[in-house]
Amino acid sequence: MGYRIAPRTMLAAAAMLLAGCATVAAQSQPAPAALQTAEQPELIATILGSGSPEYRTERANASVLIRYGDTRILVDMGNGAQARLHQAQVPEETLDGLFFTHQHLDHNEEFVPIFIHALLGGRKFMVAGPTPMEAILASTLANYDADIRYRLGRIGKTMEDAEKDYTLTELKGGEDFTIGGIRVRTIRVNHSIYTVALRFDAGGRSIVISGDLVYSESLPVLARDADYLIIDSGGVIKKDGRTGPPGAPGGLRNARAHVTLDETGRMAKEANVKALVLTHFVPGENDEAATTAVLRRYFAGPVLFAHDLMEIPAREP
Ligand SMILES: [Zn+2]
Ligand SMILES: [Zn+2]
Repeated sequence: MGYRIAPRTMLAAAAMLLAGCATVAAQSQPAPAALQTAEQPELIATILGSGSPEYRTERANASVLIRYGDTRILVDMGNGAQARLHQAQVPEETLDGLFFTHQHLDHNEEFVPIFIHALLGGRKFMVAGPTPMEAILASTLANYDADIRYRLGRIGKTMEDAEKDYTLTELKGGEDFTIGGIRVRTIRVNHSIYTVALRFDAGGRSIVISGDLVYSESLPVLARDADYLIIDSGGVIKKDGRTGPPGAPGGLRNARAHVTLDETGRMAKEANVKALVLTHFVPGENDEAATTAVLRRYFAGPVLFAHDLMEIPAREP
């Protein structure tokens, strides 16, 4: 089966190579005319899943929906993301992007159903994530080949038709491209597997999603002056006195996989972000005051504690 790099990504990559910087093609681009409605569109993030790998019904695993006008990008899709997506009244077939920060199970567990529903929907969309994105997509198509062909047949389409509807990009970090009026930039960060942070800019607002990480010099570069940094809650303090971060999975001895609060505060300060949004919470009640007090050593701006279906910025009542 043929997989194609998104033409937009290729153009952006070519521009970066030619110009030696990543700011040529997409910077300051207004939203396309088609997206201009009576009101100016607004870049909004909805936290679909604010939890961590441990299964709970009250917090889905990692997932954030980015919206601008009628452009919709889903970043990570851990357990529970599909249900939250529908609670946010966003059907899979309206998504323009299925993106990943990394391929840990708590970030990609619901890729299969979301991808297949999007594919059956017939809208053009982009799949993008770090390695092994290509293998995950290939195995999904192979495992569900007969099922997908059967469902496509019921709506008069073939697999060959459907393959024209999506593109695949294996993110390395350093990408810079535009999708539906949203400028997207990525950078590699330090985690136990290949991980990228993603930045979204549109309509004068910027939102960064860190993915899971430990301190990374690269993150403040990507997140420079951003309005919101949605970040791994790492060392959040719990009311029972427990303090993260959890140990690294996979037997990585003496290695951490998640930030400490000091690291979060340092990166927020270095990036000069306007607001922090902590997410990816382990079970237990967060001690928001104690957690914020640690972050205040470095960061004076708003500190928000994510919950499922929380909108950023918060909606006016
Ligand atoms: Zn995670
Ligand atoms: Zn992870």
